[in-house]
Amino acid sequence: MSNGTCPEIDKYLAVLRLILDNESSAEEEQYLMNHLDQCSCCLKEYEIETQVRELLKSKLKQKSVPSGLANSIKAKIIQSKSNVR
Ligand SMILES: [Zn+2]
Repeated sequence: MSNGTCPEIDKYLAVLRLILDNESSAEEEQYLMNHLDQCSCCLKEYEIETQVRELLKSKLKQKSVPSGLANSIKAKIIQSKSNVR
């Protein structure tokens, strides 16, 4: 019986961002998915976060973002990926 706000939402959102950045382990994904089955609060955040990412992605594709910015974001992503593992 949730009263709307999950007490552990920050923790699950952190895991969610790892997943969206492709930096999570399979265990972490499983851990989040199990929780989303039971928690409508986190599920809502998950949907919002996923939609925002999709929006950003489609904007990058349309090149409505200045290419300098898009390139620096890409460089950061590549950097952070090579730093992990
Ligand atoms: Zn939750």
